[in-house]
This record gives sequence, structure tokens and C-alpha cells, in this order.
Amino acid sequence: MIAEVIVDVAAHPIDRPFDYAIPKHLEVLAEPGMRVKVPFGNRKVLGFITHLKETSEFDPARLKPVHELMDVVPVLNKEMLQMAKWMKEQTVCFEIDALKVMIPAALRAKYEKRFVLNAPLEELPKLLQPHFKNKPFLRDQEAVELYALLKKEMANGTIVADTDISQQTAVKKVKMVHITESLEKLEGVAVRANAKQQLKLLAFFKNNPGRSIEASQLQREAGVTLPTVYSLVERGLAEISNMESYRDPSLLSAIEKKGSLQLTDAQQTAFDAIEASLNRAKTFLLHGITGSGKTEIYLQTIDQVLKEGKEAIMLVPEISLTPQMTVRFKERFGDMVAVLHSGLSAGEKYDEWRKIQRHEVKVVVGARSAIFAPFENLGLIILDEEHESSYKQDDSPRYHARDMAIWRSEYHNCPVILGSATPSLESYARAQKGVYELLVLEHRAKNQPLPTVEIVDMREELRRGNRSMFSVQLADAIRERLERKEQVVLFLNKRGYSSFVLCRDCGTVMQCPNCDISLTYHRSSELMKCHYCGYDEPVPHTCPECTSEHIRFFGTGTQKVEEELAKVVPGARVLRMDVDTTRNKGAHEKILSAFGEGKADILLGTQMIAKGLDFPNITLVGVLSADTTLHLPDFRAAEKTYQLLTQVSGRAGRDKLPGSVYVQSYTPEHYAITLAKDQLYEPFYEQEMAMRRASGYPPYYYVVNIQFTHEDLMTVAGYAEQTVRYLSGQLSPNTLIIGPSASLIARVNNRYRYQCLIKYKKEPKLAEVMQQLIKIYRTEWIKKGATLSIDMNPTSVM
Ligand code: ADP
Ligand code: ZN
Ligand code: ZN
Repeated sequence: MIAEVIVDVAAHPIDRPFDYAIPKHLEVLAEPGMRVKVPFGNRKVLGFITHLKETSEFDPARLKPVHELMDVVPVLNKEMLQMAKWMKEQTVCFEIDALKVMIPAALRAKYEKRFVLNAPLEELPKLLQPHFKNKPFLRDQEAVELYALLKKEMANGTIVADTDISQQTAVKKVKMVHITESLEKLEGVAVRANAKQQLKLLAFFKNNPGRSIEASQLQREAGVTLPTVYSLVERGLAEISNMESYRDPSLLSAIEKKGSLQLTDAQQTAFDAIEASLNRAKTFLLHGITGSGKTEIYLQTIDQVLKEGKEAIMLVPEISLTPQMTVRFKERFGDMVAVLHSGLSAGEKYDEWRKIQRHEVKVVVGARSAIFAPFENLGLIILDEEHESSYKQDDSPRYHARDMAIWRSEYHNCPVILGSATPSLESYARAQKGVYELLVLEHRAKNQPLPTVEIVDMREELRRGNRSMFSVQLADAIRERLERKEQVVLFLNKRGYSSFVLCRDCGTVMQCPNCDISLTYHRSSELMKCHYCGYDEPVPHTCPECTSEHIRFFGTGTQKVEEELAKVVPGARVLRMDVDTTRNKGAHEKILSAFGEGKADILLGTQMIAKGLDFPNITLVGVLSADTTLHLPDFRAAEKTYQLLTQVSGRAGRDKLPGSVYVQSYTPEHYAITLAKDQLYEPFYEQEMAMRRASGYPPYYYVVNIQFTHEDLMTVAGYAEQTVRYLSGQLSPNTLIIGPSASLIARVNNRYRYQCLIKYKKEPKLAEVMQQLIKIYRTEWIKKGATLSIDMNPTSVM
């Protein structure tokens, strides 16, 4: 038997399968989709079997043998192998990258495979029984002779394949203290009167006989130290054991199952349309304002799919994977749901993935890569907030989850729902053309009015002498809410914006020595840092150029806003949510739940608070600067601004109390701002489409961004130049080739960056030309130290 193997060789990516001989003893096990170790050059590398065959065009006697099978059950099924081929063509990536992105990170590393007993020993054939007598599993190296027998038992279910990824998973253990149930025992203990700690703990025990409690919690509740706990354990009043810890047992155990809500008429209409197409490959665009009840429709359609015995994938942007969202899904589907979010360790993610592979769950809620959930009977795929750019992976393979979803829907004959309050222009244009079916929810589900939005002209404030970052209106509104004991969300639009240091005498801005970008001031560490290469240096007291002492910080980090806020509303309780305060695992949730419990008056944050917040007491949202995304040199700048303002506004007045929103701007007349004010999506769409048509951008044109990097400026410019010439000779005359030009950030980590853009409407030769370009790159440029990246349909061209 011969295996076609795609090998993982990073330095010299060779993008075709190689033939390897499968040794006799592995023949019974080998299947496509398994990982293998194979000799390559003079080392052993990881690879995937993509195909098995009997003959090779090469001399079979000279084929190298597969060294080792790394799996007992394929990690990729037939669908995935097919999808990888498609992804490779679509995104111009290497097949190995496509294959690797589909499996959990834990499986990209090495692990040991085992055969585990899954039934009483007697149920095994006599020949196998002795091998499982001493321990309930067989390591791979002990099993070689038994593969054929084991495989048969695996089909019967008496043996299951397992993997020991202990390096990554080291299951988290917690110390549990079990207090004795016997009151007599507790009463009968004498403790010295001066042993205050022990007395305290004994009293706690007497109040809680029979209780099991985590040691750390016991220490907190009883106010004692661990040695004290041990002293009573030694006297037989409690036992200590180690228990596997679940991620958040309190959260999960507290969730009660809840039924469906009675749909509103508008929801029902949308639901009916989807339900009628549950067994067809069809894409719906569900356009509903925030709070219009889209999520309820998702839940009920998923329910329908489960009733038909099928499975569902629900994708959400990472930042929407809030505990609130998780709870809603757990309430409805209980243990049937796996939730994949970035807070999980590689091992935990792998566990969730395994539940999917073993059909133990039927619904997956997760961010982008959850689109690869290995379900085999898929009945529905949902992308919530389909316009989010995080659905596109920004390094190779540069796939878009939406494209993958539609591909899978065709494979499984099931529908896709794209949901958004502010659909991407591409999707809305497709819906207009009838490629997608448009479903609309115009009103909020509980009929609350939309919040009133006021745009504040900051130029006017400046003219009146207000140099603070809070307009008079916004400051007054904040004070008013605080008096009424309502809550406020303040949003700092920080993308493309940071605090930098400028010399007022000579105009010098402190730059990273390795990158063409200014350094960012970090107050907590008193350092200037580069966000691209990690370089840092202490904050200077004099200008490094002219030695002037008149250097100062510009820009508005959240810390700075917090300080100013303290002047506007002294004594207000403020919670800050940004990359700094959410670095630790679970920090995000902690801040949100503290805010939800009313432990703060104001939540101040960046992008990450724009979504998912659903708290009834928020009645005011302030956007400190609407303009920062607007002036980015990117064709999506207006679209992003419109989306962001709409999302943020949606945080106010979600329950009984009416909400209002203040949007501060230096360009208040811009259509992205004025139209977001009243959530007039269609007029925005029309106007933005006209702009895109005029400038030749999507959805009118497709775009490809080709970027080069090299240590030497002339070299990189030369390669880009050569590429443009090559493309012009190959592509059709109607296709536009823009550039070459230096990238917006022209140097990162001492490498210069050049790019060119292809804009086309129809380009049948594109795939072929890209492959040729990669060939030139691989045979010539890569050896000279260049990198090339090709981004088909980039989300931005910065
Ligand atoms: P979206 O996903 O469009 O933002 P949600 O599904 O989260 O909207 O609904 C917004 C709010 O309205 C939620 O609090 C939800 O519980 C409530 N809601 C949704 N549908 C209904 C319904 N049919 N009846 C009553 N309340 C509903
Ligand atoms: Zn200076
Ligand atoms: Zn740098």
C-alpha cells in the first residue's frame, strides 16, 4: 500500500504530495486523514496522509517507508481533506497550512497514542485479554503486533483510541476539603483556648458538617491559613483530596435549562423562511438592528436542526464570546454545547474538539476556527456579526470563515445564516442581487425605542475654550446618570491611535528604531513600547534630538481618560477594560460581571466593549472620538466607523430604561456619522457603494494585496517592481494593478515592506498567475531573504 503524504516542511514549502510506502504491519490501520511521521531529506517530519493507493508512478522498491502512524483514528475526515484543497486554491496557501489550521493546536505537536479498554475485560477476545490485565490501556509501541485485532475491537467499541497529550493538558487539580458529617466527632474535639485559628475553623466545621469545599475557598470563608486546615485534618475532622477542576464549575452548575420565547411576528417570518430551507444549501442574510431578537432566532433554528438529528455551528467574533452569550446557549442546549473560546488552554480546546469528533455534542459555539468543527451531519451554520473582520485570518491560510461556511453548507446541503445589524457591503450587495435571501428585523424584540443619539461637534467645544476630551453635554449627561444611579459606558475608539511623545520645540516624535512607527507610552511601566516588534525604552525627560525639556504626551489612552474622568465626576466608580486590564485569564468576565452587579458606575473601554454587553441599567453611552477609524487610509474606513457607532449605541437602553448616546466628533457632517445616528443602514449602503464604485473597490472589484518584505529597501522595491511588470504582462487589460508602493508602515522589525494591489472584475488566469508568482518567489527571492504574502480579498489594504 502507498500513501500520498503532504509533509510539513516550513523552510522550503513543497506543495505537492509525496509517495511513501506503508509497511505491512501498519496497513490495517492506515487511513487518509491520519498524521504520519515520514523521512524527508535526512530528518523525520510530520505529514498528513491525503490518499491511499496500490500503485505509484515511482519505483515502489525505492519509495521510503512511513516511519510511524501518529493517529489511530483520522484527525481529518474526507470533507476536511477536500476542503483543504479548495482552501489552498481560494486563498493561495500551501496545502499543509490548510490542513494544519483545521485541527486543534494540541494535535500540531507530538503526542503519544494509546488503545484504551472501553468494556469489561471479559468482552475482549481471549488473545487480547492478557495485554489489558495490568493496566487499562496499551501504548502504541506495545500494540504493533496487535493492530488488526485492535482495529476490529475499535469497530465493536470495546477499545477506543486515545491520545496522551499530557505535556499540554496537565489537568488542573484543586484541593478539596471534606468536612466530617459526624457532629459528635466535631463536638468531641478539644482545642486549646489560645489556638484562635483552630477555634475559628472548628466553629466553621460545626456550622457546615458534611460539606465539601475547595481549600482556598475554605481559607477565605473561615479566615484561616492552610496549616490550620491541615491541623484539623490530622485530627480526623476532615479529609483532603485532589479533584479535577473544571473551568468554571459555579457557572456551569448554576445554569438552569430554559425554553424558547414566543417569537414576535417579524421573528416568526424570518424563522419560517429558514425552516423551510433546512435541507438546502442556501445562504440567508438576517439584517436586524441590535436587540431585534436575532439570537433568539438562532437558538430556535438550532433547536429545529437538533430535532432532525443534525448538528449546528454558531460562529461569533471572539469579543462576543461573553459569559452572557455562553449562558444563553447552555440554558437552551445544556450539555449538547461545546464552547470554544480563546480563554481555553490548548488541552481544553482539544478536549472540546474531541467531544465533537466523538459525537458527544451537537452544537458548537466558537470564534473563527470553530468553522472546522468536524461534525459529519451538519444541519446549520450561523455567523453572528458577519461583518466582523476577525472572521478573516490575517496570516496564512488567509481564509474567511464565511467562505468556508458556504462551502460546507454545499457539502452538507444545509443553510447558512449571516446575521448583523450592519452587514458588510459585500453581503448586502449579494442579498440585493438575490444570491443570498434577505430577512429583515426592523424593531427591537421588546419594542424598546432605539436610543436617541446626539452628535457633539468637538470643534465647537474647542472654540468655546473646552480643551478637555469631554464635551460639556457629555459631562453633564454623565453626572445626571450617576445621580439617578444608572450606568454609563464610555467608549474610546483607539484603533490606529495611541499615546505618543512629541517635542514641542523641534516636533520630534519618538520612533521605534526598528520600525517606522511611533512608540507608545505605557504609564504603568513608564516605558515607551513598540507594538510591532516589542522594542522598549524608558520614557525620556528631554528630547533625544534637541535636548529640549518641552516634551509631552499626546493621544488618549484609556488610563489618560480615566484620569480626566476623575476630574469630571470625582468619586465615580470606574472600571477600565482594555488590553492592559484583560491580560489575565478570566479578567474580561470578572470586569463584566462586576459591572453587571452594579459595582461600578462607569465602564470605560476600547473596541472590546462594543459588543455583547446586555445590562438593563446602562442608559448612557459616550463615544469619545468617532473619527479615529474614519481617517484611516483604508477603503473600509467609513464602513468600520458606521458599524462601530451602531454597535456601541446598541449598548444603551436595552431594557426598560430609555437610552441615550453622545457621539463626539471633529467631522460630524460625515455620512458615516450622520447616518449611524439614526441607524439608517440602507442610505449608508447606497452612499458607500457609490464611493466604492468610484474608487474601484469591493464589492465592485475584487482585490488582491501582494506584500514583500526584505532587510534591504532597494531589493524589496525591486521585487515589487518586477512583480508589477510580470502581472501587467499576464493579466487582462481591464484589471488594475496599483503600485508598487511602500506599505503604510514601511518598516517593521528592520524589514522594509512594499506592496501592490490587483483590482479585477473577472480574471480567469488569476489562480494560475499567482501560482507562477509563488514559483518565482520560491526559486529565487526566498533564497535572497525575501518574504512574499498574497492576501486574496483582504479586509483592509493598509
Ligand atoms: P439581537 O441578537 O438581535 O441583539 P437578542 O436575541 O439578543 O437580539 O434579543 C434582545 C433582547 O430581547 C434579549 O433580552 C432577548 O431575551 C429579548 N427577546 C428576543 N426575542 C424575544 C421574544 N420573542 N420575546 C421576548 N423577548 C425577546
Ligand atoms: Zn526636540
Ligand atoms: Zn518596532
